[in-house]
Amino acid sequence: MIEQPREFTIPAGRARMWRMQAGERVTITQTEGHQVGDFIAFNAADLTEFLSTSHTRSCLRTLRIGRGHSLYTNRREPIVEIVEDTVGIHDILAAACDPYRYQRDFGVEDHRSCRMNFVEALAELDIPDWRVPDPVNLFQNTPVQPDWSYSSAASVAKAGDYVTLLTRMDLIAACSACPQDLAPTNAGHLSDLRVRLH
Ligand SMILES: [Zn+2]
Repeated sequence: MIEQPREFTIPAGRARMWRMQAGERVTITQTEGHQVGDFIAFNAADLTEFLSTSHTRSCLRTLRIGRGHSLYTNRREPIVEIVEDTVGIHDILAAACDPYRYQRDFGVEDHRSCRMNFVEALAELDIPDWRVPDPVNLFQNTPVQPDWSYSSAASVAKAGDYVTLLTRMDLIAACSACPQDLAPTNAGHLSDLRVRLH
């Protein structure tokens, strides 16, 4: 197996995949700020078990995740725990951006998207787009209003802000530095994310 780099960059608008063992930590850091990172993870031993935002919501009974929260799989097992978080504003409501979002809402063909970024990054696993799980959208700002509606606002993350996840099982993870430049999500400017395994 190819030695996996312990530090690497997710280029703006692209995704990267990596493998981790239980007990390892990954820190995902802003370079310039306001950059959302869609995060997905699979049980490395069984790809039918994966990080699930719907199960995470059901297990935690909250719409807001941050330091101290475990995130759960579709079998209600903790897969990662947020052990450090300098932002505290993330999203477990929204779907990944996909070609339909850019076509239907913005009339743009062939825009990069988090969903297709994951298909690209996970090519060795041969996962079709419809099997990509809904991601945990790190650093994404989705304020929920008193009338239960929610909006899509610019990420409040600043340069140097980070999240550290402790893994609870051997996993295959991927993160997409969201290419959304037509909605407020990334404050109109795409930037790289840095990943460090430790
Ligand atoms: Zn996206």
